[in-house]
Amino acid sequence: MDERLCHRLEQLLGATALPREAALYQACARDESNLGSYPPDAVVVPADARELALLLEFAGAEGVPVTPRGAGTGKSGGALAVRGGIVVSTARMNRLLEIDEADLVAVVEPGLITGALCEAVQERGLFYPPDPASLLSCSLGGNVAENAGGPRAFKYGVTRHYTLALEVALIGGQRLSLGRRSTKSVTGYDLVGLMVGSEGTLGVISKITLRLIPLPMQQQLFVAMFDDAVAAGTAVTRLVTAGVRPSAMELLDAQIVEHLRQSGRWSARGQVGAILMVELDGPEEGAVERLERAAGLTESAGASEVVVATDAGRCRALWEMRRQVSVMLRDACPHKLSEDIAVPCGALPEMLRRLDRIAVDHQLEVAAYGHAGDGNLHVNILSPEPLEPASRDAVLLAIFRAAISLGGTLSGEHGIGLAKRDFLPLEQEAGQIAVQRQLKRVFDPQELLNPGKIFPDA
Ligand SMILES: Cc1cc2nc3c(=O)[nH]c(=O)nc-3n(C[C@H](O)[C@H](O)[C@H](O)COP(=O)(O)OP(=O)(O)OC[C@H]3O[C@@H](n4cnc5c(N)ncnc54)[C@H](O)[C@@H]3O)c2cc1C
Repeated sequence: MDERLCHRLEQLLGATALPREAALYQACARDESNLGSYPPDAVVVPADARELALLLEFAGAEGVPVTPRGAGTGKSGGALAVRGGIVVSTARMNRLLEIDEADLVAVVEPGLITGALCEAVQERGLFYPPDPASLLSCSLGGNVAENAGGPRAFKYGVTRHYTLALEVALIGGQRLSLGRRSTKSVTGYDLVGLMVGSEGTLGVISKITLRLIPLPMQQQLFVAMFDDAVAAGTAVTRLVTAGVRPSAMELLDAQIVEHLRQSGRWSARGQVGAILMVELDGPEEGAVERLERAAGLTESAGASEVVVATDAGRCRALWEMRRQVSVMLRDACPHKLSEDIAVPCGALPEMLRRLDRIAVDHQLEVAAYGHAGDGNLHVNILSPEPLEPASRDAVLLAIFRAAISLGGTLSGEHGIGLAKRDFLPLEQEAGQIAVQRQLKRVFDPQELLNPGKIFPDA
C-alpha cells in the first residue's frame, strides 16, 4: 500500500472510499486466473459515478494506472494491477436501480452480482439469460467487460446481446452515456458494442441498461451418456443441424466425470466416456413432444443411455454439479491450467480428437468440459506439479493452434487479459492489433486504464 497515495485519495473521496484492511488488499491482488499476486498501491471503492469520475480525473492528472475490478472471478487476469497503481472496485456501486416490465429492461450499477439480478427479474416473470457458471459471485460490470457467456448462450446469446446502454467514465474523468433504452438503435458508431468485451481497458462502466425477455414457461433436463467425448461432440453437431435448439448443451468428458465421481458429486454406476447435459425450455404446450424428440435424436446420434431428470430438485442438483466443476478441478489440482477455446460447432468432434492427441503427445492429463452447443470448451491441463514454462507454452500453443486452424478462437468467453495476450498474434494479424491499439489510445491516450492487458508488450 502506498500510504501517501491513499492519503491524497482519501482527501479527495473521503475515508469510506479508501478502506485499508489488509485482507481487502490481499484479495484485490489476485483473481481466479491463478496468475499470481499483484498488490495494488491503493484500493478505491467509490460510492457512485461521481466519485468514480473524480478518481479517474485524479489518475489522469497524476499519471497513475487504474485497474477496474468487479468481483474478481475473472479467469484471464483482467483485474490484476500488473503495473501497480489504483484498483477501483465496484463493490459499493451495486444497486439494482430499476426493473421496467413494459420496456423489458433492467438498469443496474456494475457491482451488482449477476445472480441477484436473475432472481429479482424472475420474481416478476422475466428472464435475464446470460448465466456464467460463476453467476452467484461475479458482477454484471465484469460480465459486460468480458462479454460473459454461459450454458444458455447457445440459445439466448451472450452479454453483448442484452446490453442496450452503458454509462462509462474515462481516464481524465469524462463521463459518457452510450446507447439507448430501445432495443433498436443505429445512431452513430456502436460504442456500446465496443465497450462490451473491452476488458476494462477503454472506460470504467458505472451504469448498465440490460434487455430482459419473458421467463420461459417450462424447463426440462436430460443427461446422455456416451462412450467417449468425440461421440458426444458428434451428437451435439447432429442435434444442432437437426434444428434442435436446447437452452443449454453441456459436455463433460471422461476425466471430468471421474473427478466428479471421486469427489462424490456423480454417483451413477458404470464406466462413462462422456456426458451431455441437455436443457430444453419453451411453452408448456408441446413440452412432452419436445423432450421426446430431443432425447430420441440424442440416442440415435450415439448416446448409450439417456436419463431424464424427473423433478425440479434433480435438475437443480445437476446444475449445481455442473457449476462446481471449475472449483472441483482447482481443489483437486491446484496447479491446473484452465483454457477456454471455442470452435465452430461442426468442428467440435475434430477438436476433441485433437485434444486426445495433444494429451498423448505431451504426456499430460487433459480434461475438457464446456458449452458444447457453442463449440466452447474449457480445456484443463491437470498437472500435479507446476509445469516448466517451456512445457506449459508448448501444450498451450498446441491447443490454441488446433482451435484456430479449425476456424476457432483463443477465448470463447473468459477474455484475453494477461493470460493470453502473448498468444494474440496467433489469431489476429499485426494490422488488426495495431488498429485496436490506436482505438485504445483514443479513449486512454496515456495508456493508464488497465495497462498490460489484451495486447502483447510492444
Ligand atoms: C467457477 C467459475 C465459473 C465461471 N464460469 C464462467 C462462464 O460460464 N462463462 C463466462 O463467461 N465466464 C465464467 N467465469 C469467468 C468470470 O466469472 C467472468 O469473466 C465474469 O464476467 C467476471 O466478472 P467479475 O465481476 O468477477 O470481474 P473481474 O474478475 O473483477 O474483472 C474481469 C474484467 O472486467 C473488468 N471490469 C470489471 N468491472 C468493470 C467495470 N465496472 N468497468 C470496466 N471494466 C470492468 C476488469 O478490469 C477485468 O478486466 C467463471 C469463473 C469462475 C471462477
